[in-house]
Amino acid sequence: MENEDKINLFRNMAEADPSNELAHFSLGKLYKEAGRFEEAETSLKNCLEVNQEHSVARQFLGESLLELGRKTEAIELLEASILMAHERGEFMPRDAMSALLSDHGIEPPDLAAEEDTEAIEAGAFVCKRCRKARPGLEDAPFSGELGARVQEDICVDCWKEWMAMSIKVINEFRLNMATPEANDIYESNLREFLGV
Ligand SMILES: [Zn+2]
Repeated sequence: MENEDKINLFRNMAEADPSNELAHFSLGKLYKEAGRFEEAETSLKNCLEVNQEHSVARQFLGESLLELGRKTEAIELLEASILMAHERGEFMPRDAMSALLSDHGIEPPDLAAEEDTEAIEAGAFVCKRCRKARPGLEDAPFSGELGARVQEDICVDCWKEWMAMSIKVINEFRLNMATPEANDIYESNLREFLGV
């Protein structure tokens, strides 16, 4: 699907159901990627109206505000969001937001490292998403390169979190998994959620 088609699809979904968090988020992400930062701001704020704890929506909103030259607003949002993401154990958006602040000459909040140093030194499996030494998946959850990557990088707990999230993805996007478009949307949400 072309990006413009995706924008239309998600816009229709968001208009039909203003409580569709994932449609607002996907729309905001596409607008940001297209350099349409004012529209990105609106969609990401709509997403945060439905779920104010969406860390990646906060990250993208911060980026969009910086692109719009609204530095004070962006810094205020990012500082609060870094702490929130830290508390939720969402380290990828946390670190991405810290890097955004650093790039703009602002010292990010100082947060203690969360890594299981001893386990890492002992060579234990460490999940790339939660950065904890937790059991990994015994088998690839599905075939192909992406399935192998998930098994290599992701712990059982994070995979279970995605399983719960994937139900929301299928419902909110009304995915018919028999179609390539639905698989495309499913896969990009999986990649985003697990960081693979
Ligand atoms: Zn994990």
